[in-house]
Amino acid sequence: MTMYDRGLNEECGVFGVWGVPDAATLTYYGLHALQHRGQEGCGIVAVGPDGDMKRIKGEGLVTEVFNEDRLASLPGNMAIGHVRYSTTGGGGLENVQPFLFRHHTGDFALAHNGNLVNYALLRQQLEDKGSLFQSSSDSEVLAHLIKKDSGEAHRPRIYAIENALNAVEGAFAFLIMTSNRIYACRDRHGLRPLSIGRLGDGYVVSSETCAFDVLGAEFVRDVEPGEVVTIDHHGLRSRKYSEKWSHDMCAMEYIYFSRPDSDIDGKNVHSFRKTSGKLLFQEAPADADIVVGVPDSSLSAAMGYSEASGLPYEMGLVKNKYIGRTFIQPSQAMREKGVRMKLAPVKSIVRGKRVVLVDDSIVRGTTSSRIVKMLRDAGASEVHVRIASPPIKMPCFYGVDISTYDELICARNTVEEVRRSLGADSLAFLSENALFQAAGRNSLCLACFNGNYPTKLYQNIEDANKDGKF
Ligand code: SF4
Repeated sequence: MTMYDRGLNEECGVFGVWGVPDAATLTYYGLHALQHRGQEGCGIVAVGPDGDMKRIKGEGLVTEVFNEDRLASLPGNMAIGHVRYSTTGGGGLENVQPFLFRHHTGDFALAHNGNLVNYALLRQQLEDKGSLFQSSSDSEVLAHLIKKDSGEAHRPRIYAIENALNAVEGAFAFLIMTSNRIYACRDRHGLRPLSIGRLGDGYVVSSETCAFDVLGAEFVRDVEPGEVVTIDHHGLRSRKYSEKWSHDMCAMEYIYFSRPDSDIDGKNVHSFRKTSGKLLFQEAPADADIVVGVPDSSLSAAMGYSEASGLPYEMGLVKNKYIGRTFIQPSQAMREKGVRMKLAPVKSIVRGKRVVLVDDSIVRGTTSSRIVKMLRDAGASEVHVRIASPPIKMPCFYGVDISTYDELICARNTVEEVRRSLGADSLAFLSENALFQAAGRNSLCLACFNGNYPTKLYQNIEDANKDGKF
């Protein structure tokens, strides 16, 4: 695949438990809370009382892969887990994480959320030097780098991990588990979230804080960009593996991916979305009767728009909760089928009304145009579409499936052309400044909106060599 043909997928979620009995079962609950981040496969690796690592993984939802008997076969007080939507490497059981590696200096397991932009180049280098890969996942590269650098048994593994983290570039939250500790690592740009909580006498680590609430864990802190936190019987120990770091959290975590009850880098996701809705009204008011949000991720922004405008917030669309999110279904055909099955208009609410339809983003535009049509068919007299993010014009290289470049409707069309193709009476997008305001910070990754990628993309070996990546 060339760089612009690349599918841009939904990302993944990682969860870990250190020092708490029944760690695998707790991980199961943690992964269940992160299920929205990936629904194609999941797995758990636990360290048993004898120090041996055992793994169970499979394709499907957490509730489909695990049951009580399977969890009971993973005893111990340390575990890490992963929910997956295929990013680099595509689907298939061999790409379902965590990965488990046997090594003479000690076994280790690894789970990754994100995408490594220099994966292909690193893999080529490693294979040339004799590494054999089990999967086509980019995450395995880190494991090979760690193994390559773990030759001396007496040398603490943290040095091999730091060297490996310095060699990879891109977006990541990595959990690496050995027989007695978990290393929680975040990329130097802080593109993917990773938080640490306290549970009983131990710790939990999660892609999102919503999983802490499910377990009754108390939030301790976020892992910082460019940091490795070692979790073991010493408690939490921090090391910065890189001097060069920045806070470029993926804006789409706030806009779309994360659960509204999660706090990302200290900002609650629902509050972010609600503020973005208020700002959307200020930037693009509409003459209308009611505000309707597209369930679920746009409801908070719709509430904000309603509050700021004084227009009533109504449930004009209802979602069948038992169907996966359209955005993460792999094919266009499935996606279109999914939209029809998933959303229904409430005719008695929208009939004869001028509707402000608030959505979080426009990718291909197919979902939005179907919804506009659905509302018109249900009797809405006008439909004014308001999008709580800027137009998506560029692909993402950091583990998020938005679409292929050619399919991004806003990359190819003016706002007026998009409005016409959606069949809306008016259309407006939120500004980048409003996103900063809503997040209460002055740096975010906005690359899919404006093309300013926070990392190099390493599409050729010369780039990588210049940067000393090999
Ligand atoms: S390019 Fe877009 S989706 Fe990708 S990390 Fe940046 S903000 Fe997130």
